[in-house]
Amino acid sequence: MNKSLHRTVIIVGAGPVGMTAALALRSQGLPATILEAEPQGRFRPGSRAIFIHKATLSLLEDICPGLGFTLKNNGIIWPVKRTFYQGKEVYSRRYAPPEPEQLPHFTSLAQVEIERHLYEACLEANVEFVWNTPIKEVTTDSIGVFLSTESGESWTAEYVIGSDGARSAVRRSAGIELEGPRSKDSFLVVDLKEDENDPLPLERTFHYEHPAMEGRNVLFVPFKGGWRVDLQLLDGDDPEAFGEVEGVRKWLPKVMHPKYADRITWVSTYQFYQVVARSFTDANRRVLLAGEAAHLFAPFGARGLNSGVPDAILVVRGIVQALGAEDEASREQAIAAPAEERRLAAQYNRDAAGIALEHIQGGSPYMRTKRELAASLSSVLPRLGRWLDEGPYGPKTGHSQVTTKY
Ligand SMILES: Cc1cc2nc3c(=O)[nH]c(=O)nc-3n(C[C@H](O)[C@H](O)[C@H](O)COP(=O)(O)OP(=O)(O)OC[C@H]3O[C@@H](n4cnc5c(N)ncnc54)[C@H](O)[C@@H]3O)c2cc1C
Repeated sequence: MNKSLHRTVIIVGAGPVGMTAALALRSQGLPATILEAEPQGRFRPGSRAIFIHKATLSLLEDICPGLGFTLKNNGIIWPVKRTFYQGKEVYSRRYAPPEPEQLPHFTSLAQVEIERHLYEACLEANVEFVWNTPIKEVTTDSIGVFLSTESGESWTAEYVIGSDGARSAVRRSAGIELEGPRSKDSFLVVDLKEDENDPLPLERTFHYEHPAMEGRNVLFVPFKGGWRVDLQLLDGDDPEAFGEVEGVRKWLPKVMHPKYADRITWVSTYQFYQVVARSFTDANRRVLLAGEAAHLFAPFGARGLNSGVPDAILVVRGIVQALGAEDEASREQAIAAPAEERRLAAQYNRDAAGIALEHIQGGSPYMRTKRELAASLSSVLPRLGRWLDEGPYGPKTGHSQVTTKY
C-alpha cells in the first residue's frame, strides 16, 4: 500500500460537521485531512441550517477564534417574533439589539454561507481537503482503520470521524443502524430571495391554521438575503402539487407579496426522520460518528447542525485523549465516553424535536383543544400566547448529563 495514504486521523465528509471536526483537530495541534466525495466548488442547494444558536457560535469561537463573530457579522438577528392563530395575533415580542462585542443569542444565514466561512477557516488552519474521493468501505481492527474509495484507492488511519451525512458509508460499514420513526406529515420548505430594494421587516412569524391556506400552518423565517417559508401539508394534500415550483407560485401569493413568486430559489418536500444511531462508535473504538451520519431530526428547534458541532468537538477531544492513552483500556474508554455522551445528547435532541413536531402537527384532539383554548385566552393570559409561540420549537433545555447545551 502507498504509505503516503496514511493519516493519524481521517475525517470523511466536508459538510459543516466534518469541517468543524477539522478545525477542532487543528486547534489541538493535530493535522486534519478530509476525504470528500464531491468535487471542490460543488453546488450545495437550500438554506437548511439557517438558525445557529449562541452555544454553537461559542463552541466555534473556542476552536477557531474569530469564527463565531464572523458568522454573527455575516448573519442577521431578527428583532421581532410574532405568532398568529387562525389569522389573529396571539403573541409578539421585540428583542433589544445584541451587544456589539458579545455573541448574540443566535444568527441566521444560509448553511451554504456557514460552510463558506468554515471552509475559509479550514484553509487558514491548513486543513487538507481531498475532493472527489467517495469512501466505499471502512473496516477496523484493534490498531486502526482501513478505508477504500469508490475508485479503488486505499487509506489507513488510527481514527476516522464519519461525518458523511445521512447516507453515511462509514456508519453502514460499521454495521450501525439508525433507530427511530419518520414524521407522518409532509412539510414543504421554500427559499425566497429577498428584494434588497424593498425588503420585508425582519420578523419571524408563525401562523397556526393560516386562514388563506385553508388552515395549514405556515412559518416565515428571515435569513441573510432571503426568507424561508415552511408549509405543513394536510392529510390528503398532494406534496407534488404543492411542491413543484409552479405549485408554489399558485399558493405563495396568498400569504406573501406576489413578487416573491418570482423569487423562489429552492423548494423541497420532507417527511422528517427522527432517528439516532444505535452507537456512535464501532466495536474496536476506532470510528466515531458525528452530525447527520449519527442522527437526523425534524428541524423545529434547530437541533441539527447545532448538535453536529458539539458532536465534532467532543469526538475530537476523545481522539486526542485516546492518542495519548497509556494502555488499551484507557484508549477504548477515551473513545467510548464521548460516543456515549453524544448518543445521549442526540436522543434528547430527537425527543425535543419530537415534542415540537407533535405541537405543530396538533394531531391529537388533546393538543388541538389545548392550542384552541390557549389562543382564545391569550389576550387575558399572555403566558398562553407565549406557549403557542414557543411550542413549535420544543423545549429550550439540553440533557442534564451532557456537557454541551445541544
Ligand atoms: C430543511 C432543513 C432545515 C434545517 N434547519 C436547520 C437549522 O436551522 N439549524 C440547524 O442546526 N440545523 C438545521 N438543519 C440540519 C442541518 O442542515 C444538518 O444538521 C447539517 O447539514 C448536517 O451536516 P453534516 O456535515 O453532518 O452532513 P452533510 O451536510 O450532509 O455533509 C456530509 C458530507 O459528506 C459527504 N459525503 C457523503 N457521503 C460520502 C462518502 N461516502 N465519502 C466521502 N464523503 C461523503 C457529502 O458530500 C457532504 O459533503 C436543517 C435541515 C433541513 C433539511
